[in-house]
Amino acid sequence: MLPFSQFDPAGQLRHLITLDGLTSDQIRGLIERAQHFLRAPGVEPARSHELAGITVANLFNEPSTRTRSSFELAARRLGADVLNIEIQLSSRVKGETVLDTIYTLQSMAVDVFVIRDAEPGVGQFVAEHVQDHVSVLSAGEAHLSHPTQGLLDALTILQYKGGFRDLVIAVIGDVRHSRVARSAYQVFSALEVGELRIVAPDALMPEPSEMPGAVRFNSLEAGIAHADVVMTLRVQKERMAEAAIPDPHDYHAAWGLTRARLKLARPEAIVMHPGPVNRDIEIASDVADGPHSVIRQQVTNGVAVRMAVLETVIANRRQRQGLR
Ligand code: ASP
Repeated sequence: MLPFSQFDPAGQLRHLITLDGLTSDQIRGLIERAQHFLRAPGVEPARSHELAGITVANLFNEPSTRTRSSFELAARRLGADVLNIEIQLSSRVKGETVLDTIYTLQSMAVDVFVIRDAEPGVGQFVAEHVQDHVSVLSAGEAHLSHPTQGLLDALTILQYKGGFRDLVIAVIGDVRHSRVARSAYQVFSALEVGELRIVAPDALMPEPSEMPGAVRFNSLEAGIAHADVVMTLRVQKERMAEAAIPDPHDYHAAWGLTRARLKLARPEAIVMHPGPVNRDIEIASDVADGPHSVIRQQVTNGVAVRMAVLETVIANRRQRQGLR
């Protein structure tokens, strides 16, 4: 069997399981496409019939508000049929049952599987077994990958900062357990940001072999100094043993992003958070809602990015099939 690839034989994107391996041009292409789907507040959202006749199944086995609803809206606004199923694929990944589920849905003409799972490898496993015309998109894989989040984060930074090369980006908090941080690392590395910092207490730092090139800080004050972009992360309690979960008050005292700490960043710094926000734990409420926060814009961009990804994999499929 050939090694797994997200790309079709023509080198076009077929699946999106990880941002690892995407070139800067491919990332910029998706972000640029996403921008076509953005509208001013109060203006009706962008719609097309590009996915008419296509069926998208959202298979989620971890809580999700933003990602799930934005994948659903993205698919619907492009004219697709959408199926939402809460399903536990993970513990059965090595057995046949996961494939039974997938093959059943495939027999109902599902064209795109959007998968969120707490266990690594589920998305790739499914992608390796579906028919040639079917695509698999990750909506969050364990602590490893959240590719559409990485893309929406990059789009948000582009909107506010106009580029990447001169920026200092500080990713703060529970980097160790965060798939958002890993996809951010991949996208920012591909886009060659000026300086990428990971800022975390020692216990929440990723392994030393991970994220080469990122500059590590175990002091929040030092890590945030002169940053253009401050990305805070939720403490991933669900990926920690009971004993390792930090006390929320202590965590906020030592690692919470407060107005006073934000003053150390550049005056025009933006504050990002993937949500869900734990107010007054990793970020003070008045910072999350404050003038530097672009958290709501990230959510808006999430729909646009997911529209761009869905449209791209279906356009590539039509090209493979000689329909375009
Ligand atoms: N919503 C993001 C994720 O699914 C971030 C988080 O849950 O902390 O990874």
